Amino acid sequence: MNSSASGSRLLLLSLDGLSLSQLDELSQLSSDFRQFLVRISDRKELACPLSTSPQAAWSELLTGLSWSQLGCPGYARPKDSLNDLEIVTEDLLSGRLDLLECPGAERQLLINLPIVKPKDGRIWLSDGSWPYQNTVSPIELRNCHPFDAYRPRPYASTTVALSDRRSSIISCLAAERQRLECALELIRNQRWRICIYRVSVFDQLAHLIGSDSLFCQGLIESKELEEFWTSLGTGLSEIAELCADTTLAVISTFSHVNCRARLNLNELLSLAGFCVLRKTENAEMTSIIERRRSAALALAKAEVAVESAAAQQPAVSSTSCFELERTVAGSPTAGAVYLNRKSRFASGIVEDFQVNVILERVEDYLRNYLTKEFASGFQLEKIIGGHERSPDLIVQINGVELHNTLGPPWLDRHNHPRSTHCGAGFIALSASLSSLSAPTSPLQLYKLLKEVVA
Ligand SMILES: [Zn+2]
Repeated sequence: MNSSASGSRLLLLSLDGLSLSQLDELSQLSSDFRQFLVRISDRKELACPLSTSPQAAWSELLTGLSWSQLGCPGYARPKDSLNDLEIVTEDLLSGRLDLLECPGAERQLLINLPIVKPKDGRIWLSDGSWPYQNTVSPIELRNCHPFDAYRPRPYASTTVALSDRRSSIISCLAAERQRLECALELIRNQRWRICIYRVSVFDQLAHLIGSDSLFCQGLIESKELEEFWTSLGTGLSEIAELCADTTLAVISTFSHVNCRARLNLNELLSLAGFCVLRKTENAEMTSIIERRRSAALALAKAEVAVESAAAQQPAVSSTSCFELERTVAGSPTAGAVYLNRKSRFASGIVEDFQVNVILERVEDYLRNYLTKEFASGFQLEKIIGGHERSPDLIVQINGVELHNTLGPPWLDRHNHPRSTHCGAGFIALSASLSSLSAPTSPLQLYKLLKEVVA
């Protein structure tokens, strides 16, 4: 690595949800995008960990440790039982966000990042996963323009958004434009050493209009989209100009593929008797998306921001799903299968000596089913030696959305979203970061970036 980069400022820009080939397509949208992309010559595919959740990839990138070691399988993980989930934030990880620990009195700018909490020394704009009203920290920023209008998410969930696609797209663009205004304001006027700015619009639009239609002409919303791409291109090229002396890395921790089906692992496990599901009247409440929605709605209703609440751990409302006394394995978080171990949960029923046999049975059962349905288009891995709140098995199926909403069919090839996450993102580095061993994973990128800010 170029040694002159050591100790320099770092701007890490995330275009989460965008693929490597779509990054090239950006340059065709406006001359400003082209000007911005000139700064990042070295582009590679980023292979993300065996979880397509941005939380898992970001936990690795910020700590330098694997998500299974950290206990970060996704947005949430089981806490005291399989029915009791907690949102994963940095305080719950078994490692520190080491990339952010660097000398210097300047504040860090952390915009729209999963896991990261508001703390001293940070200017923090929420990613919306935080079930409190504070979306901006420190508190004195909250009453200043443009931060007073900062809203991390345009809507409560994609499920809700899809019911009115056009207005959801418009709100998506408005929210991202507003975030860009805040980012520019901070980058311009604050003293900072590390800035991590994550753009969410590519992910949101891929869910709403399909990832292959992202830059399509002829959509009803094409005019609005075109105007938005122009302003995003202009904003990013202004940021690049402001950061001419700054080491720049642009990443995406996942991309999208066309979705061909939805699969409910819990319904599948229950067919073989590995778990017993309690059918509640309000079954949809058990899905992660719905939990997030209720948290966001509660947040929207709250009238008073409670600063001290930021110091507390957010809880995810418990919506019972498994009959715990009759469940040996379940998937409380999409794609993550946990044995109901006695050593892990107070309500667990699997003794230590039974673990290997049961795990093997569950794995064989899932592998047989997945092979029959999807041939080789899936990954099923045992997690060995992970954090106690990491799953025993992790499942990922190409083009299949894993969900936890109760109710048959367990496999639905007709009703499914247009696109779903896939574990291939990208890394694009500015010339000063060109290295002999170019990073191709979040862990490798952590090492490279750590050298920059050390
Ligand atoms: Zn997404």
